[in-house]
Amino acid sequence: MAQIYNFSAGPAVLPAPVIRQVQSELVSYKNSGMSIMEISHRSSLYTDMEAEAEENLRKLMRIPNDYDVLFLQGGGTLQFAMVPLNLAQKNKQTGFVDSGHWAQRAIEEARLVPGVKADIIASSAAVNYTALPDVPELRQQYDYVHLTLNNTIEGTMYRDLPNVLHGQTLVGDMSSNIMAQRYNVEDFGLIYAGAQKNIGPAGMTLIIVKHDLVEGGTELPAMLSYAKQAAKHSALNTPPVFAIYVAGLVFKWLLEQGGVEEMQKRNEKKSAYLYDFLDSSSLFSSPVKKSSRSVTNIPFVTGNAELDQHFVAAAQENGLVNLKGHRSVGGMRASLYNAFPYEGVQKLVEFMERFEQSVGG
Ligand code: PLP
Repeated sequence: MAQIYNFSAGPAVLPAPVIRQVQSELVSYKNSGMSIMEISHRSSLYTDMEAEAEENLRKLMRIPNDYDVLFLQGGGTLQFAMVPLNLAQKNKQTGFVDSGHWAQRAIEEARLVPGVKADIIASSAAVNYTALPDVPELRQQYDYVHLTLNNTIEGTMYRDLPNVLHGQTLVGDMSSNIMAQRYNVEDFGLIYAGAQKNIGPAGMTLIIVKHDLVEGGTELPAMLSYAKQAAKHSALNTPPVFAIYVAGLVFKWLLEQGGVEEMQKRNEKKSAYLYDFLDSSSLFSSPVKKSSRSVTNIPFVTGNAELDQHFVAAAQENGLVNLKGHRSVGGMRASLYNAFPYEGVQKLVEFMERFEQSVGG
């Protein structure tokens, strides 16, 4: 089969050695005669696998012991509601940085939780989310302030956290750049991420939460309660065993590769190659302000919607797949997650150069 480079924003490319390992042990996990999809989540085959996955994740992200790690279901989207249900307890006042599509979904869901007030403390709507918003000095202490660390659709990313948020309890949506970039877990009260970009297959959502924050609040239905999920070690009901297993293999792969620092270095190199081309091209350009640019999701345009469509189709024929931009912004988007290889970016840039010449750019 011809080489394919998958630029999908999610579900996204997984490390090839991980896929091969899954294939090799899919029929009989650890010589048990059972597939990983068939084992009991009450067996030591599962609990050992889950414990190892958690241990490796703690190493990768340097998660302190006073944080719980949860492997739940429902995607990033369930966290939009679960976070306010659990953490907007003191005065039900929450603050949101409106940095784009996913931040807005988080705001809408928080506002559906009875009694919760969600203030928009900063927004870059006025520049169509092509830059991160400037967060002003805050006058009040919120139950938490929600930040989307990487805006998957608009292609913006926080390299550093806004200083003015120091002293607030931060909740970070890291769905599209978890372990692509080093963040300090201790700067956050809670971090969440759907698995299907940098972690593994869809079906598992990672939550890292400071234990103090989940203890002693209002009692919630079990599946929606961090405290109850943590007390049962994410196995309150049947956990997503296969998704956790693949995530565990990805964590091992990440450690073997050199961990988060090495991923960050590779992602900087991959994205710089594409941004350098975009900044010098006479046909293609990046709509995103330089200081706000993401290393994992890179939107770009020709300025002509018809030509964009033609480009996406031609790229697809050349093995460069899933380059179509999100329906809300149009154009193109290249997602360069941890497992995406540098050669794929080189191939894309070569193809863009040829395309530019072919249209007389
Ligand atoms: N948050 C961000 C930053 C995302 O990119 C996405 C999905 O792409 C979500 C949340 C929603 O995630 P899910 O599909 O896991 O519910």
